[in-house]
Amino acid sequence: MRRVFSLQVDDIQPQVGRVLRETGLPRGAAMPRRYVPLFDEAFRILRETLAPRAVWQPIPRDRFLEVYAGEGLNATDTPLEHIYPRADTLCLFALTLGAEVSDAIDRLFAENDPATGYLLDLVASEAASRGVRWLGRRLADASTGPGMEAVLAYSPGYCGWHISGQRKLFAELQPGTIGISLNSSCLMTPLKSVSGVLVGGPRAIHRFHNTYPFCTQCASKGCRERIALL
Ligand code: SF4
Repeated sequence: MRRVFSLQVDDIQPQVGRVLRETGLPRGAAMPRRYVPLFDEAFRILRETLAPRAVWQPIPRDRFLEVYAGEGLNATDTPLEHIYPRADTLCLFALTLGAEVSDAIDRLFAENDPATGYLLDLVASEAASRGVRWLGRRLADASTGPGMEAVLAYSPGYCGWHISGQRKLFAELQPGTIGISLNSSCLMTPLKSVSGVLVGGPRAIHRFHNTYPFCTQCASKGCRERIALL
């Protein structure tokens, strides 16, 4: 059943350590003293501007195949096309932090405060990621199937799912109801928004080797951490 959520700030409060790592510091490194006021300010602005909302809509496997095919521009082989056929649950989703956060980031850069703008951008991205993980936990809690061990999100624009896939996803999910729109380049407004599919099932379905041709262009190798945490 389609559901709309208003998340609490505490649901998506970013972890300082994860944001620090995104600045390029190694895992476990202490925060440099000069970062402290910047972090304080970025977290303060985030708390004051957050208005997180999300929508999800379960989708049958055959219907998802049509959404995933998008406009025919996906890579010829992708992890998700091996994962979703083995899933117990597929659920389209979109989540936004609201317009005010993105406006605050733009304003900081326009007012020549790129350090705080950059950090707020990182903090907001981590908040959005936490929001998606929160949705995944809600979906796992709502599912009764014995095979529901892990829920992970996959998004257009990543891992071979072409960004143009956003159009069919939006046509199916209609996230305009929570204030998210798509421009002609398939970028979302507000910018701090995430969309995709939540895939639930046995942990093993999410494990794969990152040896796809497009993986050579991937700087984050984010799938490795996600798989390690399963
Ligand atoms: S290495 Fe990067 S592009 Fe390849 S599957 Fe992992 S996250 Fe996706």
